[in-house]
Amino acid sequence: MISLRAGSATDVGLVRPENQDQLLVADPLYAVADGMGGHAAGEVASSVAIEALNNAFDRSGPLNPDNLIQAALAANRAVWDEAEANPEMRGMGTTLVALALVEGDQLAIVNIGDSRLYVFHDEELRQVTSDHNLVAEMVAQGRISKEEAEVHPRRNIMTRALGVEPDVPVDLFVEPAVPGDRYLLCSDGLPREVSDELIAAVLRRLANPQDAAKELVNEAKNRGGNDNITVVVVDVTESAVSREEEDVTAVTVAAPVQEGGGRGGRRFRRRQPRPKAFSSPVTLRVVAFVLVLLVIIGLGAFGVVWYARSGYFVGLQHQQIVIYQGRPGGVLWMKPTLKERTDYTTADVLPVHLQTLQSGQQEASLAAARSYVQRLVEEKQQSAGASGPPATTPPTTVARSPATTA
Ligand code: MN
Repeated sequence: MISLRAGSATDVGLVRPENQDQLLVADPLYAVADGMGGHAAGEVASSVAIEALNNAFDRSGPLNPDNLIQAALAANRAVWDEAEANPEMRGMGTTLVALALVEGDQLAIVNIGDSRLYVFHDEELRQVTSDHNLVAEMVAQGRISKEEAEVHPRRNIMTRALGVEPDVPVDLFVEPAVPGDRYLLCSDGLPREVSDELIAAVLRRLANPQDAAKELVNEAKNRGGNDNITVVVVDVTESAVSREEEDVTAVTVAAPVQEGGGRGGRRFRRRQPRPKAFSSPVTLRVVAFVLVLLVIIGLGAFGVVWYARSGYFVGLQHQQIVIYQGRPGGVLWMKPTLKERTDYTTADVLPVHLQTLQSGQQEASLAAARSYVQRLVEEKQQSAGASGPPATTPPTTVARSPATTA
């Protein structure tokens, strides 16, 4: 049994004074509308459209794509009537993109204007709807490139909007509801700032539709937020009932045609459903990565502590010769500690060793440090016995401490 699970977010952005976008999450119906018009008109247009769509969507019987088309046409009429009744609202209009789960595990999608619906299927993002604006149509006709369109001065001119005429052509698309697929409805404030690659990356990374919707809005704000941003993420899920395999063939039933009832292109595609669980490998990978990182950090910290505490060195504390545990000067936050004092001072060793003692003579063990001190003292005593202290030892600046002579 197919069901939908959605998350949504909307934000005024960083430049516009008010949010004229509206969204609808009313399972099995989801929509985004982006209003336009001076003063409060844009906000009125999108609100009236969303409310009328929701009220006119007939849930009493089996749902089919026509329910959604009729609801969209009712929304168009409601905005038009509102503008007729309020002269200051004249000319207001709105985009509308809506999705509904209908009979036969299919998703009906309608679109008017330049809000968008994308499907994220098999890790790939595809725009299902076509933008009803001047430059998008110029691209479709091959008159300009996609890159030229992005910077075209007239890229905001819409060729179709809801509520500006008593009737409007509605594009209809029908997609199979494949478990694991994600649908993204958004106002133009999202694709204006965020590339398809980044949108796909967010949908890949964040399995929760609410998290994904919030993150997409944040990305658009971080990249300028020049327009209102509205995002609805709808995930197709399936409870444990098995489905029959479907044909792999892709059939275009009819090319986009304008019909009397204002119906636009109708496209059907059938795909083989592939059960997917793209969220769990990502989560596992993240957990494994964090664990490995923690082990590396732990080993590193252990190594530093071991290194810092493992050695000994012979040094000076004032004039006294002492043995420290640790490294001369310390390692990071770990300072050497005084391990033991000897009975000797700088006067008990040859002056040639004083420099070494000041900077610290490293030894692998406490015993080695002790015998190093012993060697220095014996060396001094031998040299004193051989030729007498004043002759061979140059005067040092260090004063002898009389009490500690061995
Ligand atoms: Mn917009």
